[in-house]
Amino acid sequence: MSIEATCGTCKRKFLLEQIGPESDNLGRCPFCGTRFGRHYTTVLVDAVKDAEVSGQRFVNALGRLQGMETGFEIDIDGALEDTAEQIRAHERKAAS
Ligand SMILES: [Zn+2]
Repeated sequence: MSIEATCGTCKRKFLLEQIGPESDNLGRCPFCGTRFGRHYTTVLVDAVKDAEVSGQRFVNALGRLQGMETGFEIDIDGALEDTAEQIRAHERKAAS
């Protein structure tokens, strides 16, 4: 799953895969070269990979259910809203 982010320094958008373990810009902005999370670059690169893989698994799992004749309909919008809310709750926790 491609996840987009915005560089806090140059404000340009990039894909997390552009700074992940298979990239040429390990933990650095592909445009301005700013090092992200400079105190935990290794952890950051692993977390980027983890976010992408987990995001794709989430999409695949729901898509798989959606593709079955289950007799129910998944509330995809609700699931995405809830996901966004839970991710932002992490942000608030980290900031405090
Ligand atoms: Zn940048």
